[in-house]
Amino acid sequence: MEKKAERELFSKVHIFDSTLRDGAQGEGISFSVQDKLNIVRALDGLGVSFIEAGNPASNPKDLEFFEEVRKIPLETARLVAFGSTRRKDAEAKDDANLKSLLAAGTECVAIFGKSWDFHVTEILRASLEENLAMIRDTIAFLESEGRTVIYDAEHYFDAYRANPAYAMETLKAAVAGGAAVVVLCDTNGGTLPDEISSMTARAASELGVPVGIHCHNDAGLAVANSLLAVKAGATEIQGTLIGFGERAGNANLSTIIADLELKMGITCVPEGKVAELTSVAHRIAEIANVSLEVGMPFVGHNAFAHKAGMHIDAVTKNPRAYEQVPPESVGNERSFLMSEVAGRSMIIEKIRKFDPNIQKDSPVAAQIVARVKDLEHAGYQFEGAEGSFELLVRKNIGKYKPFFDLQYYKIIGEQPIKGVTCTAFAQVKIGVDGEMAITAGEGDGPVHALDVALRKALERFYPGVHSIRLTDFKVRVLDSKSATAAKVRVLIESTDGEKAWSTVGVSTDLIEASWIALVDSFEFKLISDVEKRFKAYL
Ligand SMILES: [Zn+2]
Repeated sequence: MEKKAERELFSKVHIFDSTLRDGAQGEGISFSVQDKLNIVRALDGLGVSFIEAGNPASNPKDLEFFEEVRKIPLETARLVAFGSTRRKDAEAKDDANLKSLLAAGTECVAIFGKSWDFHVTEILRASLEENLAMIRDTIAFLESEGRTVIYDAEHYFDAYRANPAYAMETLKAAVAGGAAVVVLCDTNGGTLPDEISSMTARAASELGVPVGIHCHNDAGLAVANSLLAVKAGATEIQGTLIGFGERAGNANLSTIIADLELKMGITCVPEGKVAELTSVAHRIAEIANVSLEVGMPFVGHNAFAHKAGMHIDAVTKNPRAYEQVPPESVGNERSFLMSEVAGRSMIIEKIRKFDPNIQKDSPVAAQIVARVKDLEHAGYQFEGAEGSFELLVRKNIGKYKPFFDLQYYKIIGEQPIKGVTCTAFAQVKIGVDGEMAITAGEGDGPVHALDVALRKALERFYPGVHSIRLTDFKVRVLDSKSATAAKVRVLIESTDGEKAWSTVGVSTDLIEASWIALVDSFEFKLISDVEKRFKAYL
């Protein structure tokens, strides 16, 4: 990087993401080369300044990645290869690891070195002087090869607590070697905010180069510590976008970006990009194959979900009552959760969709509120089961007629037989306006078999059923303490290619719970079709 561009970039607050390096240390995280390329695209789309992409010397997968990533045109992000200072007994130019770092072909490299005297003498088994030389030489060598060097001072805060003079000397060695930025790392994640502030402030005022911060979350303080470091003068914030990493994880950058931009008025990503935070966070979770914590600040599914009745009532009057920032500012959405404590006003809102004239004090409204509470007590949950909720409302306001009578259903299970994929058979008998239909279906498990049989029976009377596809099926055991008597809640998601809906069923019997959710799904579709046709005649 040109010296002028380098100075300008590092002097402004900017984001350095280490999802592909430190984040990959998290439990259950394993990225294929394709995953890594997709993460690079997602992070670049968000406008981070640096993406740390691992160590090309560590394995062939990383080497292949560095070859592939060069083909991706990046808008804001620069790739960073990561490695350590040279070995204690070799010259930098002969060090195999440093050679492979250069071979990665990135403009920037991050080098970590030891700041803690105890680590130098006990773990590295080098003299304090030798360690300073290793830091200085390594950086000077990479600099002379045209690289922009980001220096990570490992264990900086522990080091400073143990021996402040030596810790500062290691940073000065990095500056002498030509580091563009010196990053103070709370590697063990146990430093308290006031120490982060004072120690960062000293480094920022004495070094003469920009300073960065790299926090781990072992004490639950990684975000707070990172923000305080910025206040103390740090300009580079390292972390992982959704916080994953070894042990308790790294500083969560999605939270930090939102806090800096929306609360502290500090720009760290290009204009307009904060509003993409939620979608990028979900994308990263999807690629990493982890579920994004629902309560994750700003970007979690529940970050703007209101549940308590009084809160919902207040938020419908003015969102500021219970929201720190508008959900759309981070690309998230406000939602209201149905619950035992949900206020009547919430349910009334939903009923108005079918009966715009319903009043808050109407007896029907009270009846529906009571019914929802009973069902929730029995284990139902209407959050994420809008289809079933709509049917419930319809049944109570007289906008529902059953489409069929169930006479019986029967399931015969089979052990998997070699070469045969179906493991269950179902038989269903239904009546529609006095006419009977008996059908059978086979499927991959009892619920699938039931779905096939019911669909066949209904298709004779209602061809619209043909377009329904079940897209998701979730089972949750509700009261796992009483093993066999435990209730299960089944959530089914369906689509007809135009819209999607979800339905719920609860029972002590898995098949019955599935049946209830399945019937709701078919009825929801049929009732919507009837209404659509009816509207077409108006
Ligand atoms: Zn780290």
